[in-house]
Amino acid sequence: MRPVLPGATLGILGGGQLGRMLALEARRLGYRVAVLDPMRDSPAGQVADERIIASFDDVGAALRLARNADVVTYEFENVDVRVVEAIERMGKIVRPGSRVLKLTQNRLLEKSFLRGKGVPVTPFHKVDSREDLDDARRQVGLPAVLKTASGGYDGKGQAVVHTERAARAAFHRLGRRNLIWERFVPLKAELSVIAARTWDGKFREYPIAENVHRDNILWTTVAPARIPASTAREAVRMARKAADGLDLVGVFCLELFWGRDGRLLANELAPRPHNSGHYTLDACRTSQFEQQLRAVCGLPLGSTAPLGAAAMVNILGNGGGPRLTGIEDALSKTDAALHLYGKAQTRPGRKMGHLTAVAGTPAEALKTALRARRLLTWR
Ligand code: AMP
Repeated sequence: MRPVLPGATLGILGGGQLGRMLALEARRLGYRVAVLDPMRDSPAGQVADERIIASFDDVGAALRLARNADVVTYEFENVDVRVVEAIERMGKIVRPGSRVLKLTQNRLLEKSFLRGKGVPVTPFHKVDSREDLDDARRQVGLPAVLKTASGGYDGKGQAVVHTERAARAAFHRLGRRNLIWERFVPLKAELSVIAARTWDGKFREYPIAENVHRDNILWTTVAPARIPASTAREAVRMARKAADGLDLVGVFCLELFWGRDGRLLANELAPRPHNSGHYTLDACRTSQFEQQLRAVCGLPLGSTAPLGAAAMVNILGNGGGPRLTGIEDALSKTDAALHLYGKAQTRPGRKMGHLTAVAGTPAEALKTALRARRLLTWR
């Protein structure tokens, strides 16, 4: 397959921070970038050559984006599958394609697929009715996490339930259908594998990331994860099995639970660069965004070798005000790298930027990144 070379146009469905960081890498390499997003001033739109302002289910607008692009990708997985299918029918390449998108948009399809490929997942059961709810409780058991099968992100649309009564309440609150009941996994840690796969099956993974969430939103990542080498190898094997099984082309993230029993279970697969891979921007030879560009354009993958141990801390909005203060202190008193996404509005929990640090050990890197974070305040 002929590569899409610099000078060509990359079309991105979605204008968030992932699209922005991809667009910046693409421009560094001499590509043109077109972005489709409903917002006029989206983070990716701000740094793109062309903007199409339209909703994510607007097939006509997506076809306009595709007409001007040599290859198309998406930066979040809630893009309407019909839009991606329409672009594919037009003869344009979308990477990863509509099949991957469809599977990863639905937790039931995704978990069934992973299990079918021999990637272990937590026991689960579909819930579309009261009967299903009772079956799930009997067959999978409590405690459990009841989640919407599609449309949820950052922990929205889910509830941890310990009792039958709580399960019933959550069932009603979450809409009574299109739900998944998952066994609650007591965790040692949450891990993720960021990796890339090319159209001809070449594969490269980054050092495994160890993630801490707060209120279900990623708070910190360190890499390499502090896990046994055999666990790291198993994590990579699982990621490779999943990506090969999907024939996935691009960068992806396999989120894993490392259970207290030492076993790894796949939680979900994101078919795109991921928040837990932001550390690669400052701490690896090739960032996840450049790697994504290379993979979707059919170029050789870059080295994923780390430049040191790394940590990333998210800068989330917290309702404190619209202005981030303390930037000079953070930049002068630490050597953390500051990334801001150009979002004008803050909201509690909104991802506004992140900090990364590179050091001799993950703990040192985390200390630096957290110190920088503490110097920043929303006012
Ligand atoms: P998710 O939306 O599936 O990524 O879930 C968000 C977060 O909820 C995860 O990162 C975990 O911290 C927690 N979580 C989700 N599912 C489970 C589970 N089955 N067992 C334990 N914790 C879970």
